[in-house]
Amino acid sequence: MSLNNKYNVIIIGMGPSSIFCAYELIQLGKAEKVLLIEQGKRVENRICPIEKTGKCTKCKPFCNITSGFSGAGAFSDGKLSLYNDDDDDIYVGGNLHKYIGVDETKKLIDYTDEIYLKFGADTKLEGVKYKEEVTKIRKKSQKEGINLIDIPIRHLGTEKAHELYGKLEDYIEHNNITMMFETIVEDLIIEDNQVKGVVTRSAKSAKSSKLSESPKSIKSSKSKEFENFYSDKVIIAVGRKGANWLSDMCNKHNIETRAGVVDIGVRYELPDKIMKDINTYMYEGKFIGYPYPFKDKVRTFCQNPSGFVSSEVYDNNLTLVNGHSYKDKKSNNTNLAILVSHDFTHPFNKPIEYGRNVAKNLNELGEGNVVVQRLGDINRGKRTWQEELEKNSVVPTLKSAVAGDITFAIGYRTMTDILQFIKEMDKIIEGFAHPDNLLYGPEIKFYSNKVIINEKFETCIKGLYSIGDGGGMTRGLMMASASGVQMARNLFTDFIE
Ligand SMILES: Cc1cc2nc3c(=O)[nH]c(=O)nc-3n(C[C@H](O)[C@H](O)[C@H](O)COP(=O)(O)OP(=O)(O)OC[C@H]3O[C@@H](n4cnc5c(N)ncnc54)[C@H](O)[C@@H]3O)c2cc1C
Repeated sequence: MSLNNKYNVIIIGMGPSSIFCAYELIQLGKAEKVLLIEQGKRVENRICPIEKTGKCTKCKPFCNITSGFSGAGAFSDGKLSLYNDDDDDIYVGGNLHKYIGVDETKKLIDYTDEIYLKFGADTKLEGVKYKEEVTKIRKKSQKEGINLIDIPIRHLGTEKAHELYGKLEDYIEHNNITMMFETIVEDLIIEDNQVKGVVTRSAKSAKSSKLSESPKSIKSSKSKEFENFYSDKVIIAVGRKGANWLSDMCNKHNIETRAGVVDIGVRYELPDKIMKDINTYMYEGKFIGYPYPFKDKVRTFCQNPSGFVSSEVYDNNLTLVNGHSYKDKKSNNTNLAILVSHDFTHPFNKPIEYGRNVAKNLNELGEGNVVVQRLGDINRGKRTWQEELEKNSVVPTLKSAVAGDITFAIGYRTMTDILQFIKEMDKIIEGFAHPDNLLYGPEIKFYSNKVIINEKFETCIKGLYSIGDGGGMTRGLMMASASGVQMARNLFTDFIE
């Protein structure tokens, strides 16, 4: 083993959880011999061609929307979910509070928010001004059996998020942390239940050969294509993009997991004027219902006023839908996800595979693209044709979406949940169930399986840690970032005020 390849800490991935861990290691004076490894590119080199070409070109070897410095955060809408002082729980962003408690999580969110502000986030908070109006909407929702969660939001905007993470990239680099880009971590090195390092491979070689060769076949970096890096502290921060890889690693190395949920649904697009009150008073309304007859949890998520529906490519070329909004560039539509939580019971224990199959079928129907359908057509039991879409009053903002029939691929239970939820929401927001509103699919959030970690975020393998969205602890920018800060503290301090 060369000393050059030996590090004090290795972090896999460079999404917000990893970046904020690196930031905090610098504050703790522990930046020496820290290595960050990312399969994608530097943030300034991440360009999504869809802006120019109008359609997704499936960038090889990795989608620029989901991979590279700042991970899924770079092209995200950049809505940082905070909390209400008087809330006695944390309602948005994941489960960090289950490990460190609600009060500590609030302190950590404050600290992390300060870092975002220091690097250029907007000082304005959304959702704090119109308390009376929000209370009225909440009461109306409760009557329909729907909960409304409103918390303050700091909105970066997609273009500003890119800029902000660029400054963090410079900061980390100038503080002597080593960053390796376009490098895939293919495998973990584990001996006697203790992590020893990682096996890497250049993304360029992956592009020219078979991508994502099964990690089971890789034993060491004896061939020139692979290189090993060693550390007795390895942090997995691979996000949802790495959920599949992580699941393979857990199977291969017996890393303990518990079955998680998979959220399957659609991106819903409707005119700003219908969503005016929600957009003005809250910017993002998080509604949660349990519609009849299945009573599954159905929620709205990632609302983007005057925003744009987008597509992103995951492992094995799966195209999923998402949405974002810019600070300056505006459309006339609001988009939001409507997601149904799928919590499978015995004997089925493969939520990721289930979600992938739904996505695969929908992608096939759209020739590899996202499929879009009018709500009115679904209710009438027919597909949407391109000519109909062209005359539709709601103009789709995702130009590459193919008009079709999403009900061919989304299961009866999921589809019923979504349609029933839309009907109930229409009683709260008039026009929410207008026939011209658009449903895009598939929108799927792969969180599972959850990696089992202790209060220090350590897995059952000594020295191997898991943070952020990938292992299922978090589901959003703020919480993922905060989990990174806490990770650094867990490694080197018992407690920091
Ligand atoms: C379009 C879009 C909009 C969003 N909008 C919002 C929003 O407004 N608000 C919000 O709170 N959240 C939003 N999110 C979610 C948010 O971006 C994520 O919750 C957050 O980025 C998770 O951070 P992370 O560090 O856990 O993982 P990620 O950001 O996913 O980063 C993981 C990184 O690890 C890398 N990686 C994976 N596997 C490997 C490997 N084997 N080797 C090397 N590198 C690897 C990936 O390339 C990736 O760059 C959005 C996401 C998207 C895609």
